[in-house]
Amino acid sequence: MRLFQRPRTLKDELQILFLAVGSAFLVLATVLLYQNGQASLRRQVIASASTAAETAAALISLEDHQSVRTPADMDSRAFRNIVQNLGALRRANPDVVHLYTIAPIGKNGTWRVVVDVGGSVREERHLIRGRLPIGSIPPTSLPDNLIEQGQRGTTADILDLTSPSRARATALAPIAGHDGKAVGLAVVELSAARLIEEVRLLWYVSIAIFLVGLVVSVVASNMASRWVTRPIEELLRAVEEIARGNLRARVVGKSRNELGALGKAFNLMAKSLEASKAKNDEQQNLLRELHRTGSQVAATLELPRMLETASRGIRAICGGEEAFSGAMGPRDKSVRLWTRSGPGTLDMEGWDTPVTLLEEVLGGETRLLARNEFAAAGLSMLLDRPGDYALAAPLRVSDQTLGVLVALGRRTQFHPEGISLATLFARQVSAAVGNARVFEQVRAVDRSKSEFLSIASHEVRTPLTVMKSSLDILVSSPKFEYTADQRQLIAFCQESVERLIRLVKDILDVSKIEAGVLSIQFAPTSLNDLIEKCLFWVPQLPGGQGIEVDARLPSEPAMVLADPQRIMQVLENLISNAIKFSQPGGKVTIEIREHEREYEVMVSDRGKGIAPEDLGRIFGKFYQVADSATREQGGTGLGLAICKGIVEAHYGKLWAESVLGEGSTFHFALARVLDAPIGDRAVGEIKVDKLLSALRTASARASRIG
Ligand code: ADP
Repeated sequence: MRLFQRPRTLKDELQILFLAVGSAFLVLATVLLYQNGQASLRRQVIASASTAAETAAALISLEDHQSVRTPADMDSRAFRNIVQNLGALRRANPDVVHLYTIAPIGKNGTWRVVVDVGGSVREERHLIRGRLPIGSIPPTSLPDNLIEQGQRGTTADILDLTSPSRARATALAPIAGHDGKAVGLAVVELSAARLIEEVRLLWYVSIAIFLVGLVVSVVASNMASRWVTRPIEELLRAVEEIARGNLRARVVGKSRNELGALGKAFNLMAKSLEASKAKNDEQQNLLRELHRTGSQVAATLELPRMLETASRGIRAICGGEEAFSGAMGPRDKSVRLWTRSGPGTLDMEGWDTPVTLLEEVLGGETRLLARNEFAAAGLSMLLDRPGDYALAAPLRVSDQTLGVLVALGRRTQFHPEGISLATLFARQVSAAVGNARVFEQVRAVDRSKSEFLSIASHEVRTPLTVMKSSLDILVSSPKFEYTADQRQLIAFCQESVERLIRLVKDILDVSKIEAGVLSIQFAPTSLNDLIEKCLFWVPQLPGGQGIEVDARLPSEPAMVLADPQRIMQVLENLISNAIKFSQPGGKVTIEIREHEREYEVMVSDRGKGIAPEDLGRIFGKFYQVADSATREQGGTGLGLAICKGIVEAHYGKLWAESVLGEGSTFHFALARVLDAPIGDRAVGEIKVDKLLSALRTASARASRIG
């Protein structure tokens, strides 16, 4: 049973406490009830014994009583009178078990029996016909102290309660002499059997009351503890709910005591917690939005796209009916580049805001401008728009205003923290605008550098070509005769001029690739053909004679959409590198692998390999692995950069794998011509997938620029 287990809950503890207190009261009440009942019953018995004794004393004539002194007086009239009166009294009261009188008649005035009219019970052994004779010693059941008290007035006591048959109350009433002093005592012994019965009944009743009380107190303690703990349990449940994250949990109890007040206080706390969580969430969402939009803005370096995102962003973050972002273009003197976010469309052609006005009114700070300030800030075009207020945040880079973000609308449409949010957002946009401008400047510088290089290379190539043809004529014409030394010198010159021409050609190619103007003439091209042509040239490459070149080509031509001249250039470069960096007697393998959407060409050698830290750098301009062997091989360090540029201009991929000391493999992958019938038809006639048309557009654009 739960009660006998160690209490676990407050309810159990309270129940035990209530039960203990209730039981203690119950025990006390039962004991008091029993004792009071018993005392009252005793009082009743004593009172009726006293009454009987007093009645007996009153019925006895003093003279009669004083005249009876010896057994011889039993025949006297006085004795008979007394017996008659007392006998009537005894008969009238069935509870009287013994009725007699005593008086100080013995030697030295000891108290002796005078008249004994007997009773319903007889126990004394010395009784004569059931009565004590005149002058006999009073029964042993009558204590001396009671006799003494009886002389002073009626007295009574319950003298024997051992058994119902023996239980009795004894009462003594004085028979007063003429001087008022007691000259005799009427003694009545009254049966107390009923008292014992009633006391026993009282005991049973008390036990019954105790048991019923116990049951009631168990139930009551249960109810009371539940009544006390229910609001606490409810509070606890609500606290647990809140701890689990349900901030809507509330206490519903309606008690008006301190627990009720606690519940109300808890509800208030939960409400404010919910409100502050909602506010916190909102702020977090705003910050997330700020971060997200900021990243979007920074993700592009194109000013118009950036401004478009910024317009959407300022409206989402700060509110308002519509939003505008304006910035100065690279060569503008005022804010001319405007974008908008809001319902409907708007022609913003000709919108022009002088930066000086913006700086004058805003002073480099975000401000909420009223309608009458629009014109002063150079935003008079906004007067045609429905908004009354403009939240304007300047876009500033290096203390210079380059544009402005404007959220337009009614005052109530703006976020309460609109100004600080707009300032934060404008800072992000400003940084992005600054980057875009720097990028634009770098691109312009790069473009002019490439243009310069291209022109310079052209100018250098022409005299070099003249020099080369002149040297060729000098060597081949029979008109000229040379000594061996002269021939050697001319051969050195030829070699140097050829290297110079190659370098200039490479520089020209690199500058075209960097300027994005490399001309690519796309056509369905067989990789097999290109590789076979390359193999024809291999023995003529420096070092080509001592190297075995193995080409593993598929039986079907591997058709790609490519510029054959350019891909040939890539192949020549990769194969000549593989030969260049192989040991004499080494082996170079060329392989074509077929994939679902592309063909992959692999050129492998078993040469010295490339260290992992160099692998990522060899595709850069003028990069050569820093060891003497590489330098000895000659080269410009531009070959792989050009190869990568060419392959990427084909929307393909070029990469390398290498293990130092074991060799390298260079891969490039180009899109396959998937459903193109092969033949010598023009590109326009070939049915190819979407990629083909994309490539064609790119090719057309490149050739236009080139
Ligand atoms: P280079 O004209 O010097 O060959 P590349 O751009 O073609 O210029 O190559 C750059 C550098 O990459 C080379 O100088 C060389 O160090 C390294 N390299 C290229 N191909 C190989 C190869 N097959 N094996 C080892 N190293 C190579």
